[in-house]
Amino acid sequence: MDIEQDVPLAPFTSLRLGGPARYLARCASVDDIREALAWAAGRELAVHVLGGGSNTLFTDVGFDGLVLHVGLHGIDVQPGSTAETAIVTAAAGEDWDRFVARCIAEDLSGNECLSGIPGLVGATPIQNVGAYGQEVAESIIEVRALERATQDEVVFGAHDCGFAYRTSRFKAVDRDRFLITAVCYRLTRGESPAIRYAELSDRLQAAGIDVATLPPGRVASTAVRDVVLAVRRDKSMVLDVDDPNARSAGSFFLNPVLTAEQLHRVCEGWCRLGGAEKDIPMFATDDGTKVPAAWLVERAGFARGTRRGSAGISDKHALALVSHGDSATDLLALAAEVVAAVEQAFGVVLEREPVVVDPRYQ
Ligand code: NAP
Repeated sequence: MDIEQDVPLAPFTSLRLGGPARYLARCASVDDIREALAWAAGRELAVHVLGGGSNTLFTDVGFDGLVLHVGLHGIDVQPGSTAETAIVTAAAGEDWDRFVARCIAEDLSGNECLSGIPGLVGATPIQNVGAYGQEVAESIIEVRALERATQDEVVFGAHDCGFAYRTSRFKAVDRDRFLITAVCYRLTRGESPAIRYAELSDRLQAAGIDVATLPPGRVASTAVRDVVLAVRRDKSMVLDVDDPNARSAGSFFLNPVLTAEQLHRVCEGWCRLGGAEKDIPMFATDDGTKVPAAWLVERAGFARGTRRGSAGISDKHALALVSHGDSATDLLALAAEVVAAVEQAFGVVLEREPVVVDPRYQ
């Protein structure tokens, strides 16, 4: 395996930002990964593990260490314990959306609402990727990984992954400890997808589609996939090099789950701005009340299309920060301005979603 030097990182990410990597290793096998980790350890270099680059922000100084690009491929479909299930194992480097399409083609459902999410399979357990009423924690049964320090193979059952709303042990207590090599999902065969999200059922209805009356399996899941892709495209939330609003890391902030006290402060803030409490969108969860971050951002004064230098808020969705140039510094300055304004208006500190690969921004 070649180790490349001084490789520009911008082309590896959806934001297309970032200076060079001092070293880069493209790893096509678990042996390559082991070799790259050992090579970096021998030189006491920092290692950054890079997948699809859709949730990563490299800064203008680049990365003074080894960027390890995970290029593991392969999808294996096996019968489940009943005729209605299948066990699908995908290598970490498989493109997530192509994987969803392949599952649907195999007549499997359980991840169709996650169509169009950019990134690789290996990233999905880390933040328990979810959208439109579905999340990967519902279907993951096993995560295979290498412990980075020892290079031992470790297998986690779903209950060992610490899944919660958009997080897991791999993002929390064990951040950067493991490198995910493969993920194993249990999907259902020949069933109708469950529609649990108002925006999705509205769009299906508007398109004249009643999922319950479609043949279960491939036909019904394809209909849901097509509508999800259309919804995401309308928000510039699918990768598209011709769409300037898609030059983003998707949602830049997590949707906050608020305590009663935090929610009260949001209400106070909104009333101070002349709004009425009943107009605040909110969704009850087991852990508190979710208020869309995009709503907070817009009400704190950041309209869609706002520009600061080469950075901006997407014209389509207030939660996506977009780069119109080549300055990560501009983008991070805009992010900081948004966080400060939302905190001042509503007392809520928005949490960044993309990983910023620079110790100065940890
Ligand atoms: P959205 O649909 O405008 O929703 C914003 C927030 O309101 C989300 O927190 C969403 O909860 C909540 N919400 C909306 N309708 C709901 C309902 N019927 N029941 C319960 N909660 C509801 O969000 P968006 O930014 O355009 O994103 C669309 C979807 O993609 C959302 O599901 C979002 O979570 C997901 N997404 C996921 C990731 C990720 O996994 N990292 C990144 C970006 C967006 P939920 O978050 O529970 O859906």
